[in-house]
Amino acid sequence: MASTSMVGEKGKAPAIGIDLGTTYSCVAVWEHGAVEIIANDQGNRTTPSCVAFTKNDQRLVGDAAKNQAPVNANNTIFDAKRLIGRSFNDESVLKDMGLWPFKVVACFGSNNEKKPMIVVNYKGQEKEFSAEEISAMILSKMKETAEAYLGTNVKDAVITVPAYFNTLQRQATKDAGIIAGLNVLRIINEPTAAAFAYCLDKKASGRKNVMVFDLGGGTFDVSLVVIEKESFEVKSVNGDTHLGGEDIDNNMVSHFVEEFKRKYRKDIKKNHKAMGRLRAACEVAKRNLSTTSSTLIELDCLFDGIDFSSCMTRARFEKLNMELFKKCIDITEKCLMGANMRKNEVHEVVLVGGSSRIPKIQQMLQDFFGGKKLNKSINPDEAVAYGDAAHAAMLSGMENNEFVLTDVTPLSLGIENSNAELSVLIPRNTPIPTKKEKLFHTVKKNQSEVLFSVYEGERITARDNNLLGSFELSGVPPASKRKSCIDINVCFEVDSDGILKCDAQELSTLKNSGMTVSYHSGRLSREEIGKMIKVAEKLNYEDDQKRRKAKAKNDMENYAHEKRRLLRCDADKIGKKDRRKVEDAIQQTLQWLDWNVLTEASKFEDKMLELQSICDPIIAQMQLHRDDARVNKTAQRVEIIDSD
Ligand code: AMP
Repeated sequence: MASTSMVGEKGKAPAIGIDLGTTYSCVAVWEHGAVEIIANDQGNRTTPSCVAFTKNDQRLVGDAAKNQAPVNANNTIFDAKRLIGRSFNDESVLKDMGLWPFKVVACFGSNNEKKPMIVVNYKGQEKEFSAEEISAMILSKMKETAEAYLGTNVKDAVITVPAYFNTLQRQATKDAGIIAGLNVLRIINEPTAAAFAYCLDKKASGRKNVMVFDLGGGTFDVSLVVIEKESFEVKSVNGDTHLGGEDIDNNMVSHFVEEFKRKYRKDIKKNHKAMGRLRAACEVAKRNLSTTSSTLIELDCLFDGIDFSSCMTRARFEKLNMELFKKCIDITEKCLMGANMRKNEVHEVVLVGGSSRIPKIQQMLQDFFGGKKLNKSINPDEAVAYGDAAHAAMLSGMENNEFVLTDVTPLSLGIENSNAELSVLIPRNTPIPTKKEKLFHTVKKNQSEVLFSVYEGERITARDNNLLGSFELSGVPPASKRKSCIDINVCFEVDSDGILKCDAQELSTLKNSGMTVSYHSGRLSREEIGKMIKVAEKLNYEDDQKRRKAKAKNDMENYAHEKRRLLRCDADKIGKKDRRKVEDAIQQTLQWLDWNVLTEASKFEDKMLELQSICDPIIAQMQLHRDDARVNKTAQRVEIIDSD
């Protein structure tokens, strides 16, 4: 890509790229012709995807939330990405709920769909948040991080999702962006963004078949991308939206829970605090095992006053997780088959995602590709955000060169026919955007309503696939005597974000009225999004007020103590009356501070101005006298030297 324009040159706030990860998120921007990964307020280039509601009415996002998790497990939310766009009854949601320390309840949406809601205790009350709202809080934090770095407001963003996310999960992620106050330019697939980053890094010449192996904290994605000049074509994607570093951690946690049971005959599973501490220790142990052959887990007073200490070797760790590792290789093989490509036709295997650092996975992958050297040239934690930011710059016109990027549908999309089979309209790995139509007929005599159930998947029987939703066509006219059935044209359209829209039209009358497609899904309605935006704005306002208050209080304390110190150093430079006046004002202000801890930010700021109006002129006068005295002293010294 040519390094051309930069942030703000076109008088427009820059567009950012956000990798919204299950465990960590990362934000980047295209600046001065290159991508800059933006560090957060703690100086970290990735931010935990974690939100906490504390006992002292604070809402924390990122590192601050993760750091306090062991002492506030019930109100510290992570893994929102594992809930987003899913129904409460989803098998994976029910399974995860058993592992999370926070509570998840079902809420009935307008279409009777059970939506999972996360329950927290905030400001002394139980509050429910959807996965979209929690994700929006993380996105807001990433937006703020970018704004602090760029010194300007940010609106436009490209957000990534796992390639295997379905239309509901994509739409829900887009909704989260809207709730966070972002204009989502595009939703792109994580491995596609990573391949894009690879492409920028390597500036590949000729045609290259690149396999992107992306194993993160919560999801696994693998994509086969063909890169040629400025065309960038995804040939096949495969993956598992519930396979990643956290599953590996969970296996280690279960292992130590059993060991604790065996050694002490006690079950720590129900104790959220102990489980949280154990999980954190297992994650650290797992990371250590990527570079060492064994590691220790030591947790004082883990449960019932018992100190727990144990060892984990790399060999045992690999045995515990072998099923998961094999699954990754199977999925990689399927991706290759989806692209109709042989192993030896793959030019590069690029590793992305924190969990791709695990040596056993690397070895198995290398063996699978016949000993081929894996490409580790791009930082696996930052590659996705890197590609995102470059893509955001391209979409918002900040970058001149345009890559033609073609992504594909991860799964076949279709509707259930009268034989209960899946009638596919859009086969898997179809390049997007795409629009496909198919003709269907009514089967019953005088049938006035038709229910279309939309599924994604590869199984023949519709119900063995994943139900995305349903819509109804009502007011179908009776068939004429000549024709025993009515023709209905069904249209599926997948946009560039991978989001599906369905439509049906009865052909004899050619009108859509009364045939409104109500796409029954977990999707938020416009009103719901509006309400969530208001809640997010209120919470952001409260956070801002708290920050402003803490700053005003700090500034005032610092100011008062500093002026008191100055006064004490140069007490002889001002008259008694002035000194008393300043001392009294400082004393009164500090006392006021003690009594008004709960007051609002503006009162602190007013009080500060009041104190400054008393102190500043007198202190300035005092400093003037002190400087005069210094000048006189120097002059005397010069005189003495001269006279010598
Ligand atoms: P990502 O979603 O790409 O940020 O990846 C996060 C996941 O990578 C988490 O589950 C981390 O525990 C895991 N991870 C990060 N570094 C390592 C490492 N050195 N070895 C093993 N897993 C790691």
